[in-house]
Amino acid sequence: MENNTKLIHGYRAFDETTGASSIPIYQCSTFKQTTIREGQPYTYSRFGNPTRTALEEAVAAMENGKYATAFASGMSAISAVLLSFGQGDHLVMCKSIYGGTFQLVNEVMQRFGIEVTFVDETNLTAWEEAIQPNTKGIYLETPSNPLLSVTDIAGVVSIAKAHGLVTMIDNTFMTPQFQKPLDLGVDIVIHSATKFINGHSDVVAGLVITNNPVWHDQIYLQQKVLGGILGVEDCWLTMRGLKTMGLRMEQSVRSAEKISQMLEQHPAVKKVNYPGLKNHPGYKIQKQQASSGGAVLSFELANQEAVFTFAEALKIPIAAVSLGGVESILSYPVTMSHACVPKEEREKQGVTEGLLRLSVGIEDTTDLLTDLRQALAKIDVKIEK
Ligand SMILES: *Cc1c(COP(=O)(O)O)cnc(C)c1O
Repeated sequence: MENNTKLIHGYRAFDETTGASSIPIYQCSTFKQTTIREGQPYTYSRFGNPTRTALEEAVAAMENGKYATAFASGMSAISAVLLSFGQGDHLVMCKSIYGGTFQLVNEVMQRFGIEVTFVDETNLTAWEEAIQPNTKGIYLETPSNPLLSVTDIAGVVSIAKAHGLVTMIDNTFMTPQFQKPLDLGVDIVIHSATKFINGHSDVVAGLVITNNPVWHDQIYLQQKVLGGILGVEDCWLTMRGLKTMGLRMEQSVRSAEKISQMLEQHPAVKKVNYPGLKNHPGYKIQKQQASSGGAVLSFELANQEAVFTFAEALKIPIAAVSLGGVESILSYPVTMSHACVPKEEREKQGVTEGLLRLSVGIEDTTDLLTDLRQALAKIDVKIEK
């Protein structure tokens, strides 16, 4: 079965008891037990709920995984995984990492004595050299946010396997539609389902998928005792959103490709970061491990004044934090995701005052191109190329 059929039929998508065409919302905290002599499959909604199970099965199927757990947010999913490590453990992580994950490492995990080394994710030697005798796991995110650097997943997995380490990946940007890390040997896949999986900017949700029963038991325990479960209505909305993920991604990618090509040629644009462009340094690896460059790109204008002129002239994309919605979303890392990073550190990472990130929605490609062009025309700085 291919992805788009699988999204509709590749899991228990219909209610088995009544035939209902969507899984019912089991709005309950507890379940009447047939006997007190023994337990039954569902007893209390924090431990398990049929609506949540349905979403978990759907997402596991899309990632070619056996097990999934649904959390109240992407961060809740990431915390459940990373707080499975303990005192004295060491992890190697990519340096271009989601801001919330960075904060979790520095402000929470440090208190629990979990050590982390951040490495240049594009350099396999750097991953290997960071491994210590107490290293337990490797954590990556590809393509990265907001500069879209690409990490060689299979390369990192082979290093991890040689050292007996567990590999974890945040697959939010690619979605299982384009990148299936479990097939490449990764042990644990994490999603902020808030983004493309739900896709409608109306739910905050997180997911963890694995094929490893020992890890699944551990993550299920974390879900149960940390308690960050996804509520049933949000489970239902996420399943509804998931069904159209293929079509949404297809349209968004078509536009993202055209937009990145247009921006690359434009005299007001200094640089475009999109792994679907031939001159992107990670283009070849991206092509090997994913079936598309995705629907997120970033680009650099001359300076902050150009950014403000452009953003204020733009009519279609909404200016907002987040990505992966049906609407195009323009983010300014300097005042949004990277506002708490000191200027010097931010610039060192390549997040300059001219950098904008665009999450391409499902609007008509021509309308987006026209809008972007008219807003770029308002900038009077021309870049020498
Ligand atoms: C948004 C995001 C997260 C955090 O997810 P929430 O649902 O906001 O908690 C983690 N990783 C990536 C790559 C994200 O884009």
